[in-house]
Amino acid sequence: MSGNHQNNAHTALAQSLAEKTRSFIDTRVIPNEALMAEGGEVGEQVLAQLTEEARNAGLWGLYYPLEYGGKLTSLEDYLLVAEQEGRTEFSQSIFGAHSSLDAHMMLRHGNAKIHAEFLKPMAEGKLVSSYGMTEPDRGGSFPALISTSAKLEDGQWLINGRKWFVCNTAKAGFVTLLARTATDESVPVGKALSMILVPATSDGFKVEREISMLGRDLGQGEMSFTEVKVPRENLIGVEGGGIALMGERLGIGRLLRSLHWMGLAQRCFDLMGERVHSPRGISARLPDKQLVRQHFVEAHQAIVSARELIRIAARLVDASEPCDIEVNTAKMAASKALCLASDSAMQLYGAEGISDLTPLAGIYRIARTTRILDGSDEALTSAVGRRLVDAYKDGGAYCFA
Ligand SMILES: Cc1cc2nc3c(=O)[nH]c(=O)nc-3n(C[C@H](O)[C@H](O)[C@H](O)COP(=O)(O)OP(=O)(O)OC[C@H]3O[C@@H](n4cnc5c(N)ncnc54)[C@H](O)[C@@H]3O)c2cc1C
Repeated sequence: MSGNHQNNAHTALAQSLAEKTRSFIDTRVIPNEALMAEGGEVGEQVLAQLTEEARNAGLWGLYYPLEYGGKLTSLEDYLLVAEQEGRTEFSQSIFGAHSSLDAHMMLRHGNAKIHAEFLKPMAEGKLVSSYGMTEPDRGGSFPALISTSAKLEDGQWLINGRKWFVCNTAKAGFVTLLARTATDESVPVGKALSMILVPATSDGFKVEREISMLGRDLGQGEMSFTEVKVPRENLIGVEGGGIALMGERLGIGRLLRSLHWMGLAQRCFDLMGERVHSPRGISARLPDKQLVRQHFVEAHQAIVSARELIRIAARLVDASEPCDIEVNTAKMAASKALCLASDSAMQLYGAEGISDLTPLAGIYRIARTTRILDGSDEALTSAVGRRLVDAYKDGGAYCFA
């Protein structure tokens, strides 16, 4: 049974791209997942080959700006495609999903030099992006504490500091850095930080180490900046505008990730279905067991709810409406749905679910990161909760419409 009745709001283009993407994932990506999960040289080669195939099939960078090769302009439309892309844990690079956010940020806030030197080669698949915000000595949930500094000297930014848990550390051709540009400590944080692009080839830039996540290399690492000099024009937006850009970036970024997590959650749901109807499941009469059905009902409820919350947030982003509450609520719901679905699927697979004989261990690992990545559960709950409580201040009310 399919959910086709839910697709009516989407354009024919989005529906056709979603079908093509699903077929590409089923025929080309899923059969190669085990090789990519092993990593190493072979895993990297397979990943690169599939990325090239996705480009040739016209399925790479679909949410890039149109002038840079993208095909979809609305996030609500992209939801349909992204949840197909997201059915594999390797979707971010195969479909250029990780860099579409950078592309939109550069197009909106970058100058012509940035478009030519960074955005264009990135859209052509020649340059990998990364984003450096979190620091080793400070809580990443508190950007006011950022200590990496960038000072203007003779028309160049002089940068010193460290960042860690940066995705694509080893592959990145450049990093979008959030750094403190205000020299006076009395400057409020809203005006003290800026975003600057730093090429990985800059003197003084160093990849210090790669950092594995729950035992597997997922591409995160630590980088340092020692007396790094980059041109003044590498600033994105305006000097002191880093926090505002960070808010904009995190909002769209959280939603983009949530779309892909929906794909992984649905994959877990499908795997549950396959397992209970496999000869092994049938022999144990799993489809008849009420507690097995409960796993399905709870995962279904979580996925459908998160999907609708994402859709609401996506519509608001598309309409350029304020939507912090909706985006953060959707991110938390998507994370919960993925955590629940991957845990239920593991449970129904028994020991195999915990092993590396199925894709579930890899998906479970990703699921666990979602509760911390792009804002921890607690930080988002606190931010949304404050807004909801404040809505009732001075006799006001929260409007659900
Ligand atoms: C897979 C993955 C990829 C990542 N990629 C990147 C990247 O590309 N670039 C980058 O810069 N960073 C990246 N990060 C880092 C990520 O953004 C941070 O981990 C996140 O912002 C939280 O910061 P922190 O880890 O320093 O935790 P901290 O800020 O030290 O928080 C630790 C814990 O304190 C608690 N806490 C925090 N705030 C509150 C609150 N308001 N109320 C109650 N409790 C609270 C929570 O339990 C939280 O988990 C990545 C992380 C992961 C897991």
